[in-house]
Amino acid sequence: MGLISWARKRSPWIAHFCTGSCNACDIEILACLTPRYDIERFGAILRGSIRHADILLVTGPVTRQVRDRLLRIYEQMPEPKYVVAVGTCAISGGVYRNSYNIYPGVDSVIPVTAYISGCPVKPENIINGLSFLLKKIGESK
Ligand code: SF4
Repeated sequence: MGLISWARKRSPWIAHFCTGSCNACDIEILACLTPRYDIERFGAILRGSIRHADILLVTGPVTRQVRDRLLRIYEQMPEPKYVVAVGTCAISGGVYRNSYNIYPGVDSVIPVTAYISGCPVKPENIINGLSFLLKKIGESK
């Protein structure tokens, strides 16, 4: 394992982008930061700037209005970048699927590395998905 991927695995910086969902998945992401779930024990921190992030968590359905913003944010991330679709809406459009202004998932707009299902997603699943992703990052060269 290279030094950089070792460091990235030990201290991933995470950005969160909500496309405008019901906010339940967003609240579950915040719950991961509380002492009860304590995602910081993996070295992960939530960053406000996408330019400093290794991992982008996307929640909610991708609408036509938000598509360009999501693309712009993705393009501003430094390489290598990882995107996680969090929740059924982000994975497939969820309850909004087949609506006239909804894309069928984040992966129809930008590449997605991992999917964490649920409506809303449980904090345990978010931690599980992130630790799986970190393992994959650690294995990359
Ligand atoms: S997956 Fe469910 S809880 Fe999450 S944003 Fe969509 S509707 Fe809300």
